[in-house]
Amino acid sequence: MAQTITAPKNKVDRQWHQFIGGQFKEGGSERTLFNPADGKPLCKVAESSKQHVEQAIQAARKAFDEGPWPKMSASERSAFLFKLADKIDENAQELAELESLNGGKPLREALYDMGDAAQCFRYYAGLVTKPTGQSIDVPAPSVTTVVREPIGVCGMIVPWNYPLLMAAWKLAPALAAGNTCVLKPSEYTPLTAIKLAEIFQELELPPGVVNIVLGGGQNVGQPIAESMLVDKVAFTGSVKTGKIIASAALSNLKKTTLELGGKSPMIVFADFDLDIAVDYALFAIYCNAGQVCSAGSRMIVEQSVYPAFIKKMSARAKQIKVGAGNLADTEMGPLVSEQQMNRVLEYIDIGKKEGAKLEVGGERLRGDGYGDGYYVSPTIFSNVKPTMRIVQEEIFGPVVVVQSFTTEQEAIELANGTVFGLAGAVFSNDITRAYRVVKALKAGITWVNGYHSTYNECPWGGYKQSGWGRELGTFGLDEYTEIKQVNINLAPEAVGWFEKR
Ligand code: NAD
Repeated sequence: MAQTITAPKNKVDRQWHQFIGGQFKEGGSERTLFNPADGKPLCKVAESSKQHVEQAIQAARKAFDEGPWPKMSASERSAFLFKLADKIDENAQELAELESLNGGKPLREALYDMGDAAQCFRYYAGLVTKPTGQSIDVPAPSVTTVVREPIGVCGMIVPWNYPLLMAAWKLAPALAAGNTCVLKPSEYTPLTAIKLAEIFQELELPPGVVNIVLGGGQNVGQPIAESMLVDKVAFTGSVKTGKIIASAALSNLKKTTLELGGKSPMIVFADFDLDIAVDYALFAIYCNAGQVCSAGSRMIVEQSVYPAFIKKMSARAKQIKVGAGNLADTEMGPLVSEQQMNRVLEYIDIGKKEGAKLEVGGERLRGDGYGDGYYVSPTIFSNVKPTMRIVQEEIFGPVVVVQSFTTEQEAIELANGTVFGLAGAVFSNDITRAYRVVKALKAGITWVNGYHSTYNECPWGGYKQSGWGRELGTFGLDEYTEIKQVNINLAPEAVGWFEKR
């Protein structure tokens, strides 16, 4: 049984302000954050005003138009990013504790995320110093080169499920390429972004290169997406908000990347070891309490092993230790907020009303040991129909639906049968079949006999309504650059297009 935790007040009981032009700025209103582990107030955080957002955008504009950052050599920017990565590693324990307190995730997961964020900065620090561009063989006496240049001011709006990591996926390539940034963390989980600003100050990042504004989507996020002074917006969040951002970005046709939601399938063929498949299924859906864009939230299992799969998965799901993120034996934490918990519970209710069979879980864990924390037990629905809302819509919590199939074609059709296309996996010992099926999936991130492994070196993003563009890898750096062709005439003569009179 979980113990209710009390937040170590000394860690969070301090001022948390916006960071603009290299300085922490007071003012604006305040927002109370709650500890998801016990539902009690955690701390107060500044809420940026309209003026703060304008100042942050202006500071980033000035830093780009006049400042040293875009003009520095790639190796100078690279050196800064390597130092930043080392500082994240040095502060990893504190950052992870903050993220665990703020978002509820188990400390071991938060620590893993901090290492990943540091590595992301290191990856782009290295990549940006490697040769890029092209030299094109055009008719003499001209020479043509193709160069990449920073885009300008980049607005970044991120969610609460991986607060620092999602910021790193954007800041690292943007900074490496020479852009300046206005970052808005989620209103639920701003603490590690503010700590990152302290590290920027310590490392003397030139003022205005990264600005951090705090608060809700409509008042603080949307003005960034709408601003005529912002050249690019990079967003990670829900499809619904992604569509709002895309239309706001039309103001000046800013470059836009969108990393949106998913309802990702995991197909299990009967020839695969069932215990290993179930182990991956638990990892696919219950990691970070299912609040993962690429979560395996739809199991698609061959009919002959369907009953056995459900039995084994239900037995294992019941054993998962749910509790506060800072307890050593916790395997799954609470959901991030009361609002998110209520949304998940509402979907569980919808599933029951739609006629799906609740195999296990489906309830809020409360009271003894859980206090008023936002805990939902690991939940499995079987006997679902493809048209049900719990099969089609992203729940973003520890809820999985298990579907069955009899033919390979049916498995593919079920897998591709939603508006999303972020991730997907196939489990089979027949590698020819597994490859054929994985190739048929309409998804940007896929696995054969695995789930969730992801690398800074590989592109991340989705097909269909899961988004626009890619983060990470060389593709992620491209999204933060403009491409310019430079034509040089080495022996200029009169062009003679119009007759001289
Ligand atoms: P959300 O869309 O509600 O919010 C995301 C961010 O957008 C927050 O910072 C929020 O304040 C801001 N926002 C909200 N309304 C806005 C508006 N009108 N204008 C500008 N900004 C606005 O999403 P969430 O609940 O924070 O996160 C969960 C979602 O994120 C899920 O759908 C999940 O799949 C998705 N996600 C996707 C990826 C990916 O890489 N594809 C990664 C993580 C999360």
